[in-house]
Amino acid sequence: MNFIETRGNDGQRPVKVSFSEAILNPISSYGGIYSPESIPELGTDFLNKHINSSYKVLAKDILTAFDIDIDGSVIDEALTLYDKFDDSDNPVPVVKVKDDLYVSELYHGPTRAFKDMALQPFGLVLSSLAQKRNENYLILAATSGDTGPAALETFKNRANVKVVCMYPDGGTSDVQRLQMVTEDAENLKVLGVNGDFDDTQNALKRLLGSAEFKQRLKDKNINLSAANSVNFGRIIFQVIYHVHSYLELVRQKAIKMGEKVYLNVPSGNFGNALGGYYAMTMCLPVEKILIASNNNNILTQLINEGRYDLRDMAVTPTTSPAMDILKSSNIERVLFDMFGAERTKELMQQLDTEHHYQLTAAELATLQNVFSADFCNDDEGKQYIKDSFDSGYLMDPHTATCFKAYDTCRDKPLKTIVYSTAEWTKFSPVIANALTGEVDAKDQDALKAIATNARIEIPAMINGLFDKEITQQTIIEKNQIEQEILNFI
Ligand SMILES: *Cc1c(COP(=O)(O)O)cnc(C)c1O
Repeated sequence: MNFIETRGNDGQRPVKVSFSEAILNPISSYGGIYSPESIPELGTDFLNKHINSSYKVLAKDILTAFDIDIDGSVIDEALTLYDKFDDSDNPVPVVKVKDDLYVSELYHGPTRAFKDMALQPFGLVLSSLAQKRNENYLILAATSGDTGPAALETFKNRANVKVVCMYPDGGTSDVQRLQMVTEDAENLKVLGVNGDFDDTQNALKRLLGSAEFKQRLKDKNINLSAANSVNFGRIIFQVIYHVHSYLELVRQKAIKMGEKVYLNVPSGNFGNALGGYYAMTMCLPVEKILIASNNNNILTQLINEGRYDLRDMAVTPTTSPAMDILKSSNIERVLFDMFGAERTKELMQQLDTEHHYQLTAAELATLQNVFSADFCNDDEGKQYIKDSFDSGYLMDPHTATCFKAYDTCRDKPLKTIVYSTAEWTKFSPVIANALTGEVDAKDQDALKAIATNARIEIPAMINGLFDKEITQQTIIEKNQIEQEILNFI
């Protein structure tokens, strides 16, 4: 399958590219991104065929349906990385929590957040492509917490790839910071930056767009790439678990094959939700995809009013920081799929220059055919964490936002799959606060308090972080980033 450009073609670049081109050079004409030329339609036959398949067998068949230019043996090897998850037979457990609500737990990988679902196999695929082409890549990442650890973990010691990961010093949780600064491999560099997440994100964007910086890398025979969430190499692995979760509900006899469900996704850059949208297009009987946000509720505004308006908005820090996003990059692929390249270009360029756009009534109706949305503020989220804990389910603050959408967005009493995107260990101070009222606990104390309260163990890979040697000591100013990267390579 080939990939085409969300904002149309500028006459300079190729009109279509292969999957491997699209993942190595993810930016297309007019600042757009690549989307599949068409989505394979597989129907319920596909679901019936896989009712008893393992995660890996299902995954292989979905990737095959996209007909990507990656060797079958490389895909097989990439999929073995799911063996590193807690239960290699079932990397994504789906558990009943209450009434119609089932939680699909996407956080059982090495860094305890859902970014592993896509980044684990993606890292292997990218590295093997680089080796095959005899090219070297520098992956730059800016992280507010979850992407950094997952990107470092997947590229650690992989050939032909180096990673520089920037995080705002003091802007992540202790666990997230330790996951990064204790990574020890020749090809990894972690930079703590004096500033906030926007500072690191802006530095990243500037470097990715800088011809001079790219030339300096080229002089050293290195290409620049990014492992950010618009990369289709990540998105493709995010289709699989939606299909898997649906089949799990059938296997658990919660639904009959063919019965419609709601998918309920805590959203930021919309990669997870986009995977659900593709799964629905391919084969899944889905009533609606419920989009949960926190107080940075631009997606709620878009889906309820057809308005994407950044003019009076500023990112506000919340207790679900991985969703503190106002420019939600993967929405562009939904616009493209629904309204075509010409209209997408018009809307996205208006967003770039005037910081807002408005869909027509007909467009909004099309969008609302698929999506419903609501947002959950921090106090509501805390209450959901507490109530859920009291009835026996411990969850993180990102997952909690879905419980609000579950309460407010459903018109029908259908089974609902909530996607849980982080383990409780990654946001323990917020959870301890919700459960006991304790404020400003350190991660280590909060972890202990919750473990005691819930009578569970702190997972070894989290506990072990506090005793691990800190190997990445560099803390720098914003204006030193470029030089520090050049020193590293
Ligand atoms: C990245 C992330 C999200 C948001 O996912 P998107 O695919 O960007 O919408 C939600 N929760 C957690 C914990 C995350 O790490």
